[in-house]
Amino acid sequence: MSEQLTIIGSGPAGLTAAIYASRANINPLLFEGFQDGGIPGGQLMITTIVENFPGFPEGILGPQLMGQIREQAIKHGTRMIMEDTVEADLQQHPFTLTTSSGETHSTEALIVASGATARRLPLESEKRLWGKGISACAVCDGALPVFRNRELAVIGGGDTAIEEALHLTQFASKVYLIHRRDALRAGSIMQKRVKNNPKVEILWNKVVEEFCGEEKLAFLRLKDTVTGALSELPVVGAFEAIGHVPNTGFLKGQLATTETGYLKTVPGSTRTNIPGVFAAGDVQDANYRQAITAAGSGCMAAIEAERWLQERE
Ligand SMILES: Cc1cc2nc3c(=O)[nH]c(=O)nc-3n(C[C@H](O)[C@H](O)[C@H](O)COP(=O)(O)OP(=O)(O)OC[C@H]3O[C@@H](n4cnc5c(N)ncnc54)[C@H](O)[C@@H]3O)c2cc1C
Repeated sequence: MSEQLTIIGSGPAGLTAAIYASRANINPLLFEGFQDGGIPGGQLMITTIVENFPGFPEGILGPQLMGQIREQAIKHGTRMIMEDTVEADLQQHPFTLTTSSGETHSTEALIVASGATARRLPLESEKRLWGKGISACAVCDGALPVFRNRELAVIGGGDTAIEEALHLTQFASKVYLIHRRDALRAGSIMQKRVKNNPKVEILWNKVVEEFCGEEKLAFLRLKDTVTGALSELPVVGAFEAIGHVPNTGFLKGQLATTETGYLKTVPGSTRTNIPGVFAAGDVQDANYRQAITAAGSGCMAAIEAERWLQERE
């Protein structure tokens, strides 16, 4: 028998959709994921304190927040399977989903909330000091007390890197923008803004060779891409802004995407180009990429899926 509604992803978007759908008596099935595109619980599982999710004046640890949202979804009746969806057939209705164990499930409506993965520098030292001064989200972590009035670095040269650098100038004493080329990829207005900001210094033709420090980040070892010369840059925070990859591999191009690979939704809704398939959270959001916006669009997706199912009846 076909499921009414299946949700792919157990980050803030998928779990919020699950809470709303269960409370609407839709009895959703949710694939939590396992290793494709992150871990069950999503991106907040790899961070420490979350200070900007409403309702927690003292902040809350990312894994704790996700544990509580998961519990809420289960309490209202969501059924969870901790597996990846490896294939989806959206050409025929009901849709068919295949999971990593090889089982297939058919579903009337589908919410894709599989998130996006932040690109990270493939360095051993990066793994060791991740969360100890290294982050992939300045908007999320930049305001933490450890970074206030300190020298920080942003790695990247696109619009996101510049946005992150400008955001950090509100807290940092100085922000270094480390770029591997001699020109920024960002648009001209953004370039002007960053070049005119006295707190930002752009370090051209530099790549990070190593993140250094014992217990936490203390300095970066940089390499000049033209001369090969090595140098040290003392910073307590480094923010990687080298792009995100939306987790859409299992869809094999069946849903329309933007140029950068994010799922396309009808503006102001979570509807995709296939009726009955909705997309929520970071997988369709190149702009905000926050837990609260992901949760908000998860709520929208559940309400839209409920209405879509009712109309078909
Ligand atoms: C280091 C860091 C710190 C952050 N800090 C904050 C913060 O303080 N405040 C804030 O608001 N935001 C923060 N963010 C951003 C926030 O985590 C994301 O915006 C939010 O998690 C997006 O939610 P989502 O549900 O769309 O996707 P995700 O959280 O990415 O979850 C995606 C889910 O989909 C699953 N999945 C992926 N592929 C498959 C598949 N094929 N089959 C089944 N499941 C699949 C994954 O396992 C995961 O459960 C931070 C991000 C990072 C990386």
